[in-house]
Formats: sequence, structure tokens, C-alpha cells
Amino acid sequence: MRKFTPTESPSETILKFKKRLGLFIHCGAFLLVMPFAILQYYANNLPLALAIAAFMLFDLLIIYLLIKEDTYLFNGWGLALLAAALVCYSTSITGMVGALWSYVAILLFFFLLHWRPATLSATLFIVVEGYIALKHLDISLWYRLIATLLLSGTLTSAFSWLLTEKQFQLVTLATTDPLTGCANRLQLNSKLSESSYNFHRYRTPSSLIVLDIDHFKQINDSQGHAAGDLALTEFAKLMASRIRQTDKLFRYGGEEFIILLPNTRANDAYRLADSLRQAAETHDFKLLKPLTTSGGVAEIIEGEGWDHWLNRADEALFEAKRSGRNRIERA
Ligand code: GH3
Ligand code: MG
Ligand code: MG
Repeated sequence: MRKFTPTESPSETILKFKKRLGLFIHCGAFLLVMPFAILQYYANNLPLALAIAAFMLFDLLIIYLLIKEDTYLFNGWGLALLAAALVCYSTSITGMVGALWSYVAILLFFFLLHWRPATLSATLFIVVEGYIALKHLDISLWYRLIATLLLSGTLTSAFSWLLTEKQFQLVTLATTDPLTGCANRLQLNSKLSESSYNFHRYRTPSSLIVLDIDHFKQINDSQGHAAGDLALTEFAKLMASRIRQTDKLFRYGGEEFIILLPNTRANDAYRLADSLRQAAETHDFKLLKPLTTSGGVAEIIEGEGWDHWLNRADEALFEAKRSGRNRIERA
């Protein structure tokens, strides 16, 4: 399995993989179809030979843009629709010889498009292809063609749906903390580097709050690990309920949480952090003592990478701990 780079989210990794897969399919399609343009030319099927040649030119353009500009023209739709149209046209001229390519067209839909549009397009394609083939094939062969096309389409669609679901589950598992449901460290790195980029490119300020529950070990020691787990879940819920929708809460480690605040300056972040600290202290966690937290706040500054920014917030947290806990410090 390919490893995630620290600042790349799993979704970005999948997107990059899809682009590489797209490039592979487009190159394969070009090499595979080229002999048929020549074949049709020498078989005196000039219109079909030209149609295949146009298909190849279009394919070349997509390959060129993918390599040179890193943009995927029509996002897979171009090749899928053109291939389907070519198969229909080819069937209308050569009958079963052209219809044989229908299976490849169906596979292309599922390789190049998302599951839902692929299923819809493949269904529509089978209807059109079936209508065209009806005029060129005897009925028993036509019936077999349609039955096998429907079966191939259904099986491919089911398999593609399964893959989409599993992919979603895997991304969720890889990016979510199972205990609290917060985003985990993997997402943190990618979101922080995105914020750092936005600051240096568009001057959008962002701030970070690092919160650490005070003497959490004592809770585990006196009331048990399960009570500690419950307190952590409740704490995360409380924090999530008090931040904006655009803010993001991460569980950084055991009892340490980070909140990323886009479009927020240090002063506002400090005020929010202190209100969160007070909210936790007055909330009833069903513990023997009130739950107190210490926190560090840092706003991103010029020339700073995300790791340095996080370090400054961490140092501020350390300062809050050193100054007696149950307080927030600014970097
Ligand atoms: P400080 O005020 O300096 O932060 O003290 P602390 O006790 O909170 O910090 P310390 O790092 O000494 O201990 C953290 C504790 O958090 C130790 C560990 O057992 C507990 N912890 C970490 N993850 C979990 C978890 O998922 N569930 C529970 N119940 N406890 C956890
Ligand atoms: Mg702690
Ligand atoms: Mg800690």
C-alpha cells in the first residue's frame, strides 16, 4: 500500500491515484485502438477509420493535458462518452464485430466515472446499443448480447459500489479518532499545511488552540479507565458544540485536543480558548473533581511552516502548565 505523506490527506492520495489510473487507461486506449483505425482504413471503412482516428486524437489531447498541466479534461467523461459513441457507430456499420466492444465501453464507464453516473450512463448505453444492434443482428444473437451486457453491467456496478463504500469506510477509519469521533492527527497535518498555504498566498489569518486536560491521569487512577474514556468523549462533545462550523476539532493525543480556527486572529482565539476552559470547568462530567484544562494559543506568522506554528502553540501550552494549570497562554 502507498504511504500517505504527512501533509497529504487520504482523499488527496486517492485523487492522485485516480489521475494516475486515468493516464494509464488513456494511454492503453490509444495503443489498443490504433491498429483498428488502420484495419478499418484498409477494409475500406473510411468513415469508421476516421472516427477512430478522431477518437485517438482526442485521447492524445487528454494525455497531453494530464502530463503537462496536471488537469484532467472533462474528468473522464470525454473518453467514456466518445468510446460509447464509437461502439454504437461501429455496431451500426459492422454489427456484432462492433458490438463486441460494448463490454469495454461499460468497463470504461466504471473506471473513469463515479459509481452513480457510471451506472446511469452504462444503462443508457445498453439501451441505445441494444436499439442499434436490433437492426443488425438476428434475434437470438441480439437476445444473448443484451443479456450478457446487462449481466456485465450489473456485476460491474455492484463491484464498483462495493469499492466506493469500502473506500469511504477506509478514509473515515484513517482520519477519525474512534473514541471521540474527532478528526485525528493525519487530518491535522493536512489542514494545518492548507491553512499555512492560505495565509502565505491569500493573507488569510488562522489561529490554533491546543488544549490539554489537567491531571487526567488522576481521573484514570481514581475512577478507572472507562470513566476517563467517558470524560474524554464528553469533553470533545462539549468543545465541538461551542465552536463555529468552519472551525475544526482534532484529538492530538491522549487528553490533548487542537482546534484550528480559520479567519481568526490571536485575540479572538484567546477569548474562545478561555471560554472553553471555563465551560469545561463548570460542566458536570460526573467526576470527583471539576475538570480543568490548560491551553496554548498561536496565530500563524509570516514565513512560518505549519510544524513551527504548532510548536509555538505547544510551547504556550507548556507555559500554561508551568504557571499553575487551568489557564490559557498566548505564544
Ligand atoms: P498534566 O496536567 O501535566 O497534563 O497531567 P496529565 O495527568 O493530564 O498528563 P499525563 O501526560 O501525565 O497523563 C495523561 C494520561 O492520559 C495518561 C494516560 O493513561 C491517559 N490517557 C491517554 N489516552 C487515554 C484514553 O484514550 N483513555 C483514557 N481513559 N485515558 C487516556
Ligand atoms: Mg494532561
Ligand atoms: Mg497531555
